[in-house]
Amino acid sequence: MDFKPKTYKNNERSWTNFLGLCKGCGLCIEKCPRACLGFSKEDVGYYGTPAVKCDIDHCTSCRICEVTCPDCAILVSRRERPKSSSKEK
Ligand code: SF4
Ligand code: SF4
Repeated sequence: MDFKPKTYKNNERSWTNFLGLCKGCGLCIEKCPRACLGFSKEDVGYYGTPAVKCDIDHCTSCRICEVTCPDCAILVSRRERPKSSSKEK
């Protein structure tokens, strides 16, 4: 089976689940303080158990899920905002 990482992103952050590493233990879901993680109905992890999906617009990039996952199956990234051009007079 081909396990491609699944990424959820918006303008501020991205959240990736490495499906080939996720064993579907649910620990990240339990620990997320924003309750924005849940089991996916579309993707499966290494053991054929449901992978994890992220409601990215409620994520704060706190990385608790990333450091909690025992299998290093999550990567949280803040996305660089384009620098606003300052108008000097
Ligand atoms: S803690 Fe890691 S292995 Fe467990 S469900 Fe979450 S991403 Fe998958
Ligand atoms: S980074 Fe924080 S808010 Fe976002 S999914 Fe992980 S635990 Fe939840």
